[in-house]
Amino acid sequence: MESNNRPAIPAEVRRRVLVESGHRCAIPTCRYIEVDVHHIEPWEKVKKHEYENLIALCPNCHRRADRGEIDRKSLRLYKANLRFAHDRFSKIELDYLFKFYRVVNCTPYPSCMRLLYERLIEAGFLEVREGNNGIIASVENGVDTTPVRFHVTPKGREFVESLGVDEL
Ligand SMILES: [Zn+2]
Repeated sequence: MESNNRPAIPAEVRRRVLVESGHRCAIPTCRYIEVDVHHIEPWEKVKKHEYENLIALCPNCHRRADRGEIDRKSLRLYKANLRFAHDRFSKIELDYLFKFYRVVNCTPYPSCMRLLYERLIEAGFLEVREGNNGIIASVENGVDTTPVRFHVTPKGREFVESLGVDEL
């Protein structure tokens, strides 16, 4: 429960959390218009107002979350879904990122595949390495089939981990 002797949530952070859910309750089946900002990990534990840990909930869902009827993992999933909807990446791009995140040794892909991952590469979340094994540049029918491997960068790993969701 909220206590009165803690600092207010900074206006910028609060706004970002509210905009994320369109100023409605973040529970997709609720979407009520009157909202509070809720700490996914309780304030008493984290003592910080961090965007990653905040979610907009209506008073009713807020009470249910406080009682544990909506658990933290579910809240993180709801938040992650909102981010998929609003961030610069599509769900498919994030699926690719999660896939590469889990793969330790990615199999070589033809170089032309990098088009699919271009925005992840530009964001610095994915990097392209030589697929090598002695195979040098090759072009078939105008399509670059040189083998390359895709690796999630430390920045990309940080992003995946910031979602706080380990099985998507
Ligand atoms: Zn609600």
